Amino acid sequence: MNNLTGYIHNVSPVKHSNKTRYFDMLIQTEATKVRGVCFSSSKHLDFERCSKQKSSVKISNFTIKSDSVLMNARVQIEELKEVTFLREEIPSTLNISMLSNVLGVQNFMCYRQCCKCNKKLPATPGNVVKCETCGLRQKVSACSSQYHLQALLRHDDINTTVTFF
Ligand SMILES: [Zn+2]
Repeated sequence: MNNLTGYIHNVSPVKHSNKTRYFDMLIQTEATKVRGVCFSSSKHLDFERCSKQKSSVKISNFTIKSDSVLMNARVQIEELKEVTFLREEIPSTLNISMLSNVLGVQNFMCYRQCCKCNKKLPATPGNVVKCETCGLRQKVSACSSQYHLQALLRHDDINTTVTFF
């Protein structure tokens, strides 16, 4: 993959770790959301601007490793005028970057919740979804979104997996 199109969310401040300066973010693509890590602080303003302006962007010159998009000074980010899919609102409470000791994001997903029993609804490409728990048929657009994030954290030199909802 040479480039990706998406939206930038929750850009962290520039952080220092083992002589490395980096910042991270969530990148929303059409199909998924991934963690982006950039090791060039000179690009920080560009990413922050695209996040604040909610622009759809094209990113090129990156590598993908452990489900993260890794970028350095060669990364190119350009704003797109044409948008092929919509930007989602992602709660800033999911700002994984506020945690200084995140080792990696293991799982990030978004799902719809049943209006009646609050259980997770199956993913569907259609407009109507049937709850497998209570059987209620409902419009997908009427259901609220829930986010689920699983991250590997270092705390007191012990690695733990933490789940955020
Ligand atoms: Zn239900």
